[in-house]
Amino acid sequence: MLCFFGLTLKELEDVIGGTGKERYRARQLYRWVYNKGVYDFSMMDNIPKGLRTLFRDMLDMETIKPLEPTASMDGSVKLSFMTKDDNIIESVLIPEKNRLTLCVSSQIGCRMACSFCVTGKIGFIRNLETHEIVEQIIGAKKYLNVSPINGGDRITNIVFMGMGEPMDNFENVVRTIEIMKEPLGLDFSRRRITVSTVGLIGGLKRLQPGTAGLAISLNAADEQKRTEIMPINRMYPIRDILDFVRHYKGSPRERITFEYVLLKDFNDSLEDARMLYELLKGIRCKINLIPFNESLYSQFRTPDKKTVDQFHAYLIDKCMTAIVRNSRGPDVNAACGQLGMAYLLSKKAML
Ligand code: SF4
Repeated sequence: MLCFFGLTLKELEDVIGGTGKERYRARQLYRWVYNKGVYDFSMMDNIPKGLRTLFRDMLDMETIKPLEPTASMDGSVKLSFMTKDDNIIESVLIPEKNRLTLCVSSQIGCRMACSFCVTGKIGFIRNLETHEIVEQIIGAKKYLNVSPINGGDRITNIVFMGMGEPMDNFENVVRTIEIMKEPLGLDFSRRRITVSTVGLIGGLKRLQPGTAGLAISLNAADEQKRTEIMPINRMYPIRDILDFVRHYKGSPRERITFEYVLLKDFNDSLEDARMLYELLKGIRCKINLIPFNESLYSQFRTPDKKTVDQFHAYLIDKCMTAIVRNSRGPDVNAACGQLGMAYLLSKKAML
């Protein structure tokens, strides 16, 4: 059986065309499923009954099973899904003032081994298939239909910041983005999609400029410190990442985001802020400062508010665009760097 959510519109047209049926039926299916949120073929009343049966027998509409969602005190909701091979995928719905963001996962585990991140402790299990990434969005839409958050049921933004390194699962992430952007499909504009990466330059160079917004997880302003918390820095050091950024040809108004997780007494001093400024000055960018979220699986601690404010104020004083982003859902292990806890605990329980 083929997975409906893994097929681009063109591929679905080819599949249907290959059965001898009209290719335009693919567009009808896309509209029903992505636009109208109808997942039951029997309800698609502009498609002849015989064809609905054929599609039902040919196309799998649910390959990951939703588990019980967990709501945080701060309004965000962690969604979990069980894959067919008994792995857990996590995504997070994050309501903000004028937006509702869904943070999706692109891998089970991750091979980047960043020392401040729970997912990194899992190690690499496998890449998610295109349909498993798209189905996180569908799962979130189904959840919101029943339980709108703050009265909102429309996902406005998608960020690839969940479990895994998206550029390490390049093909599936790019196919997912194609499906997300399809006007007859989920119809997200590229400005509403952000890919966050440790800076796998090979992947970044393959990514067509304008595919999606880019966020680079920097987390330290000198090579040695970054290597200490992000081993990938040996292969893709800061200087190479900045070289890529300086030559990046995005749209004229596009700014790359740098993410900087503030770790108490490690990278949160004013000297660190100064080095960050020296590194990024002259680059059109935004800096997201993310105070670390503590977890069972990391020795790092959260910096106090005063330290965070001083760091932030230093950058603002230097006319950098910097925002403190307190990541959401720490009470349900849904915050930045905490995803994967359910996976680790479930595997431990099985031992
Ligand atoms: S921070 Fe991102 S890239 Fe690093 S280990 Fe965690 S999931 Fe992987």
